[in-house]
Amino acid sequence: MLHFQNYLNGRLVPPTAGRYLPNVEPATGQVYAHIPDSDAADVARAVAAAEAALPAWRALPAEERGRLLVRIAELIERDLEALAQAESQDNGKPVSLARTVDIPRAASNFAFFGTAAQHFASETHFQEGVALNYTVRHPLGVVGCISPWNLPLYLFTWKIAPALAAGCCVVAKPSEITPYTAFLLSALCIEAGLPAGVLNIVHGTGPGVGQAIVEHPAIKAISFTGGTKTGEHIARTAAPMFKKLSLELGGKNPNIIFADCDLPEAVRTSLRSSFANQGQICLCGSRIFVERPIYEQFKAEFLVGVAALTIGDPQLAGSQQGALVSEAHLQKVLGYIALAHEEGGTLLAGGQRVQLEGRCAGGYFLAPTVFEGLAPDCRVNQEEIFGPVVTLTPFDTEEEVLAWANGTQYGLAATIWTRNLNRAHRVAHALHSGIVWVNTWLHRDLRTPFGGMKNSGVGREGGLEVLRFFTEPQSITVKL
Ligand code: NAD
Repeated sequence: MLHFQNYLNGRLVPPTAGRYLPNVEPATGQVYAHIPDSDAADVARAVAAAEAALPAWRALPAEERGRLLVRIAELIERDLEALAQAESQDNGKPVSLARTVDIPRAASNFAFFGTAAQHFASETHFQEGVALNYTVRHPLGVVGCISPWNLPLYLFTWKIAPALAAGCCVVAKPSEITPYTAFLLSALCIEAGLPAGVLNIVHGTGPGVGQAIVEHPAIKAISFTGGTKTGEHIARTAAPMFKKLSLELGGKNPNIIFADCDLPEAVRTSLRSSFANQGQICLCGSRIFVERPIYEQFKAEFLVGVAALTIGDPQLAGSQQGALVSEAHLQKVLGYIALAHEEGGTLLAGGQRVQLEGRCAGGYFLAPTVFEGLAPDCRVNQEEIFGPVVTLTPFDTEEEVLAWANGTQYGLAATIWTRNLNRAHRVAHALHSGIVWVNTWLHRDLRTPFGGMKNSGVGREGGLEVLRFFTEPQSITVKL
C-alpha cells in the first residue's frame, strides 16, 4: 500500500498528527494508497518554511528561477509515462488522455512560466521635464494554491509555476481525491534542486488544510480552482483579511451549432467537448443548442458517435471513457439523470451505471448520457452536473440562442460552430463567457487570459495576467 507524504521545507515528511486518509482507485473502487490527513499545524510549518525561503528566492534573478522551473518541466517529461499511469489510477481517466493532455500540459506549464518571467516587463510613464514615473512589480510573498480533482497535475502546476516564476513562495494543496501526481511532483522538485521551502505541498481535506491556508495571516493571496460554492466560502473568509483572490469556478457551458457549420467536424468535436474526461472538465459544453434545420441530422450523427464510445478499464489503450472520480460523484450525476426524467426530458442515450467485469467490477462507470426536450431554464440546464451528461435543444434565431446561452449564473466558456465569419464575431462578443471557441474546443495558448465571468470566477490565469496577480505593483515618481 502506498503512503504519500507532505513536502515541507524541501523534505518528504509525515503529517504532524500522524493521521492518514484512504485514497480510492475509481476504476476498481479499492483503496490503493493513504494520504496525510494534515491540519493547521502542518500548514503553519509550511508557511514558516515558505517565509524563511522567500528573501533568497525573490532575490534570485528571474532567469535563475526560470532555469529551475524548466528543469522541473524536463523531469516531468522524463517521467511522463509513470505520471500518466498514476494520474489515470488516481482519477479514473483513460491513461491515453493523461499521456496526451494532463502530463504534457503540466510540463508545458513549468516550461512556459520558467521563461515567461524573463519577458515580464514593467511600465514607465515619462512626463517631459516634470517627472519620471515607473512601476515595480514585487512578488506578493507567500501565496496559497488550491486545486481540484478533475485535471490534477495540470491545474496544480497551472498555479504553482507562475507563482514561483513571479518570485513568490508557495503553500499548495492538491485535491484530497487525487493527490498522487502532486506527491510525485514533490520528489521531482527535490531532484531538480528547488531550494527548500520555496514550494510546500500539504495534503489533506478542504476543511482541514484548505481552510487553514485561506485563514493563515501570512498568506497574501489565494489562487483557487474548484466549485462555485467552495469559492464563495473562500471569498467570505479571505476578503476581510484583504487577501488577493483568483477564483476559477464552475461552468454550464453552451455549445452553439449553426446550420452553416462543418457538420462532421462539429459532431466529432462535440463528442469530445461533451464526454472528454467523462465530462469532468470545467470547459465541457454540456448544453448543446442546434439550429433547427440541422437538428435531426446532428442528433442522429451525434448519437452514432456516442454509441461508439468505448467504456473500459482506464489502463487499456482502447478505452475512451474511464470511471467517474468517486462513488459520491457518480451518485450526484445519477441524481441529475433522475431529475432530467422528472423534468420531462427524453433519454436518447446512456442514463445508467455501467458494470464492467474483472478488475473494474467495483468501478464508478457511467454511460455517456444524452437528453432532449428539456427547457433551457430547468435545473438540469442550469446547474453544473460535471459528468457525462448533455442536453440537446433546437433553436430558431440568434437572439433566442444567445438568451439561452447567457441565461445561467455561469460564464466560463462557450463554443460556436458556423462558417459565417461575421456571425462568429458577433455572437462571440455577445456571449457572457470568459472564453469563446469558434469551430474548435479546448484549444489553448498559454499566453491568453483564462477564466470566467459571473459566478464562474474572479480574475484571470494565464500569460501575463497571472504574473500580475502574483505581484504587487508599486508606483515610483522621480521629479525631474
Ligand atoms: P471543490 O470546490 O470541492 O474542491 C476544490 C479544492 O478546494 C479541493 O482541493 C478541496 O479540498 C478544496 N476545498 C474544499 N473546501 C475548502 C475550504 N473550505 N477552504 C479551502 N479549500 C477547500 O471542487 P472539486 O469537486 O474538487 O472540483 C470540481 C469543481 O471545480 C467543478 O465545479 C468545476 O467546474 C471546477 N473547476 C473549475 C475550473 C476552472 O478553471 N474554472 C477548472 C477545473 C474545475
